[in-house]
Amino acid sequence: MSRIAYVAGQYLPHRQAAVHIEDRGYQFADGVYEVLAVVGGHLVDEELHLTRLHRSLGELRIPAPMSNSALKVVMREVVRRNGVDRGIIYLQITRGQAPREHAFPKAAKPVFVATSRRTKPPDPKLGRDGIAVITIPDIRWQRCDIKSVSLLPNVLGKQAAREAGAYEAWQVDRNEQVTEGTSTNAWIVTADGAVVTRAADSAILSGVTRLAVLDIMRREGYRLDERPFTVAEAKAAREAFLTSTTADLLPIVRIDGEPVGDGKPGQLSVKLREAYLVHAGVAA
Ligand code: PMP
Repeated sequence: MSRIAYVAGQYLPHRQAAVHIEDRGYQFADGVYEVLAVVGGHLVDEELHLTRLHRSLGELRIPAPMSNSALKVVMREVVRRNGVDRGIIYLQITRGQAPREHAFPKAAKPVFVATSRRTKPPDPKLGRDGIAVITIPDIRWQRCDIKSVSLLPNVLGKQAAREAGAYEAWQVDRNEQVTEGTSTNAWIVTADGAVVTRAADSAILSGVTRLAVLDIMRREGYRLDERPFTVAEAKAAREAFLTSTTADLLPIVRIDGEPVGDGKPGQLSVKLREAYLVHAGVAA
């Protein structure tokens, strides 16, 4: 089946799908995005993603390209036309096309692009054996709560992780506190069993997976502490894990080469991973 993309009102073969060279997304990273998981043709946590999308648009004063019900129709159509049973949808909305000038153009219309593709589920080995993270300085701007397409520090950070043989890089602020991964949220479990993750301030993206996992924890009575934690605290933690739409929930067994706990996926991480996979419809 050949791939189809939705671009500014049209369904086009992926190879022909394009936006203009004066699109402000291309020139200024003046746009926002979302990535949703598709499981069994169903869009996981669709409402939470749409709420976050509207929040990002609102913060940047980019008008929504269409109503929510129309957005939902386009997403389903893109999934259907690409025959995606298990995979992702990518949505991107930029401020639109206009002659290059920093201030907002008067007449630009937002440009909305949606693509979908099949993806292999994350390797179960990662969930079983756990993953490694490194730590790097957080060099991003002060509005990381906006899901902007401006991702250069995240790109450089993920590349640093790859080159170090790690899955992810945890970004660290000036107070030695972990903000988040380059495309994931960061969590630890303290020696006395509290699950800690940074509160959703402007230093992190409020992950939809993070919200879903918080919800599971509240329902199941876990001890939860939404506060920042330092790298030293993470290295001394009993467990650590990360969450995102594409990674699900993965236990972390090494930080900067040092083992977390006994160097094996922690009990709570494994239990929460199972509960999240049920929530996402991946596991029964
Ligand atoms: N933080 C950042 C910087 C991200 O890019 C992502 C992935 N979009 C996340 C956290 C996790 O968010 P979600 O659970 O919504 O995928």
